[in-house]
Amino acid sequence: MAKIDDYNFAGKKAIVRVDFNVPLDENGKVTDDTRIRGALPTLKKILADGGSLILMSHMGKPKGKVNEKYSLKQIREDVAKALGTDVKFVHDCQKADEAVAELKPGEVLLLENLRFYPEEEGKPVGIDKEDPGYKAAKEEMKKSQKEFAKHLASYADAYVNDAFGTAHRAHASTAVIADYFNADDKMLGYLMEKEVKAVDNILKDIKRPFTAIMGGSKVSTKIGIIENLMDKVDNLILCGGMTYTFAKAQGGKIGDSIVENDKLDLALDILKKAKGKGVNLVLGTDCIAANAFDNDAQTIVCPSNDIPDGWQGLDAGPETQKAFAEVIRPSKTILWNGPAGVFEFENFTKGSRAIAEAIVEATDNGAFSLVGGGDSVACVNKFGLADSVSYVSTGGGALLEAIEGKTLPGVAAVK
Ligand code: AMP
Repeated sequence: MAKIDDYNFAGKKAIVRVDFNVPLDENGKVTDDTRIRGALPTLKKILADGGSLILMSHMGKPKGKVNEKYSLKQIREDVAKALGTDVKFVHDCQKADEAVAELKPGEVLLLENLRFYPEEEGKPVGIDKEDPGYKAAKEEMKKSQKEFAKHLASYADAYVNDAFGTAHRAHASTAVIADYFNADDKMLGYLMEKEVKAVDNILKDIKRPFTAIMGGSKVSTKIGIIENLMDKVDNLILCGGMTYTFAKAQGGKIGDSIVENDKLDLALDILKKAKGKGVNLVLGTDCIAANAFDNDAQTIVCPSNDIPDGWQGLDAGPETQKAFAEVIRPSKTILWNGPAGVFEFENFTKGSRAIAEAIVEATDNGAFSLVGGGDSVACVNKFGLADSVSYVSTGGGALLEAIEGKTLPGVAAVK
């Protein structure tokens, strides 16, 4: 593996896997450009050396089909603005040969969403995992994934992976492509190097108390990390939509709140495990409930386990905000992933704000705080607190898997 700092890109074409999976509003406007800004050090170094850039990314989950809703065309202007130079665009990532041939030093070409092709993720389409033909289909897909990656590799002299957000996936552009470059011509970008170091920081030298705050909509998508964190943390705050799965599992009344009815046993199991391991698991006791999923809905404060029918918990209540802050403030290592409420609605940001402010206070008192995952990053940005925590990670799943101690395929492939 080469080191980006030592590599001279002069006269070379570099294909860079970036994570430009940025949130867009209903008009296709970028609402948070952290991920674009995160890639700038790498991209600017390549251009400053006199290299040319071929940028590739995914956006959303188009599941192997062209879907304009996820077109990277929508962010072209934002990338151009961030780089301060024009950005060319190719509508099909596998048909960029001509555009690549014309690319001159200092020029930038953005490829269309890689996931418009199923080969990017390498999952066979239209066939169920249980189907007897699945294994053969998977083998076939692996072959075409190699071809897909090889074609992307053919555009460039050097490969840089700077997409920490997808480093936990062994996809064509994040891992398979690396096989088609010499060890001396493939490397991690600056962002990746920084992210890997931040994770090391949290894992190698845990100062206690270590508090993890996990929020978001569902428990099912976070179960791996929740279970794993229980071996590491002193305090585990679970908040956001998953609160109501826990409340219902314990016999509570949750009105119309978001719930995963098939995860009630799992919730009870988590509570039991936390007890067994001596982890202080903290759940919300009250919530701000609304009579509709709407910023302007009517609200009431009620116990999280006694929500009237027709109302849904959309944010942590005042008692909960206070309890969370009290646990966070004296912590010395803090990890935050996932909001405490529907923070996209201004009226339901209080829980997430209370968490963010307590993290900032702890950081001021010497804690190492790591905030990761698109939504929590959007929160600290919204509250203007991104510069007041120790590290803001661009990775959600990748960050969590790295903290679980798993090897990230995107890092392993270039190494
Ligand atoms: P995730 O993708 O699982 O990390 O969840 C992030 C999403 O969870 C955000 O879009 C929030 O709006 C949403 N969320 C947080 N709290 C709630 C809640 N109480 N009810 C519904 N959605 C929520």
